[in-house]
Amino acid sequence: MRKPKVIILGAGYGGIITSKELETILNKGEAEVTLINKHDYHYISTQLHKTSAGTAVDEKVALHIADLLKKNVVNFKKGIVDHVDFVNKKVMLENNEIYEYDYLLIALGFDVDTFGIPGVEENAFKIRSFRSSKAIQQHIQEQFNKYNEDGDLSRLTFIVAGAGFTGIEMVGELIDQLPKLCKKYEIPLENTRIVNVEASDSILPFFDQKLIDFTTSYLKKNRVEVVTSTKIVECNKEAVILDNGYQVPARTLIWSGGVRANRLLERWNLQLVKGRIPVDQYLRVKTFEDVFCVGDAAYFEVEENTPLPATAQVAIQQAQVCSSNLVAAIRGNALKPFIYHHKGTVASIGSRAAVGNVFGVKLTGRLASLMKQVIEARYLLVLGGPGLLLKEMFNVKFKKS
Ligand code: FAD
Repeated sequence: MRKPKVIILGAGYGGIITSKELETILNKGEAEVTLINKHDYHYISTQLHKTSAGTAVDEKVALHIADLLKKNVVNFKKGIVDHVDFVNKKVMLENNEIYEYDYLLIALGFDVDTFGIPGVEENAFKIRSFRSSKAIQQHIQEQFNKYNEDGDLSRLTFIVAGAGFTGIEMVGELIDQLPKLCKKYEIPLENTRIVNVEASDSILPFFDQKLIDFTTSYLKKNRVEVVTSTKIVECNKEAVILDNGYQVPARTLIWSGGVRANRLLERWNLQLVKGRIPVDQYLRVKTFEDVFCVGDAAYFEVEENTPLPATAQVAIQQAQVCSSNLVAAIRGNALKPFIYHHKGTVASIGSRAAVGNVFGVKLTGRLASLMKQVIEARYLLVLGGPGLLLKEMFNVKFKKS
């Protein structure tokens, strides 16, 4: 009998966890599963701010997919997905290779939203992928290097746009990293600036006041200039222009102003809501019952017009239910509805502090930072068991392609 073909698009949180779960749930030879991803590594998106600043070693953020999938249940294909023909059930890659499927999972994640602000798309740095984060890291180092040649202070001004979760985490890493770079390049720390620009009237608007106050005072203590109620209206290679008329000379704008679903989805003739694919309670794409979607690409409505947020926590929980639903669909069994359980949120501010809310308990400072490390370690355990956790602690090196 012909084995059903399952294709998984994207090896981020949603795609890799689904693949791992299928390794366990599927019987031997029950289905032919193929995971397709742009790169041969899985990057931990929630740590990209560390790669961007240069505070994490690459091996802790990007993990070889071959090392994660070991049971010969899921085949891995490195390739860039271009198009899906939902009628004829075919996935087309950029290199014109075609993959047929019986069941498809779309887990293609996020893109950065720059809201059409002039100059941002071309000149700002985006925390979008491992590669784009490495580009930020290299650019920052280059600015220190060049400052020693031309003394141009705009090279040492680092502007982070957005004081939401990602923006604050990025600022936190810069707080940790700039003193190290100053020491390396023998430059006084006072010559550097970190400016955090936020359009709304508060940083971390989804957290309560106690956590906001802690963060604000931590940032101030570390010389971060926080500018709220201010929009960036334009940027070029040498300056960032604000809506209050100020022009801040800076060669680095790191854009953390917002994310949206992968733009590729817009080319697939699907009915999107806010750029994401609406899914039913079983995580199936509403118009195609054999197509599932999880993570940032999925629009899962909890109440009318209120989707689940685009977070790793959501993507992981959805992947766990989606994998069992894929197997149920193959076996002709009933599918399980997805119910989200919010466990809390912790935002790091560098390696020494964090703020968060875990199971309703508010945490700040080192305790919150410790909790963040526990969350990160827990993900490695889910992904690869104690073996992976230990391996990551010992920092085994590999070459990325
Ligand atoms: P992704 O993890 O983005 O994976 C998508 C995958 O698809 C990637 O591997 C990508 O390479 C691949 N891909 C994309 N296009 C193609 C293509 N055309 N062909 C082939 N492959 C393709 N969430 C939290 O819950 N907690 C946090 O603390 C947190 N911190 C964050 C910090 C930062 C700096 C960032 C950027 C995000 C953070 N998030 C956090 C959000 C979280 O990272 C995302 O919600 C999560 O990554 C979504 O998972 P996903 O599987 O949908 O997509």
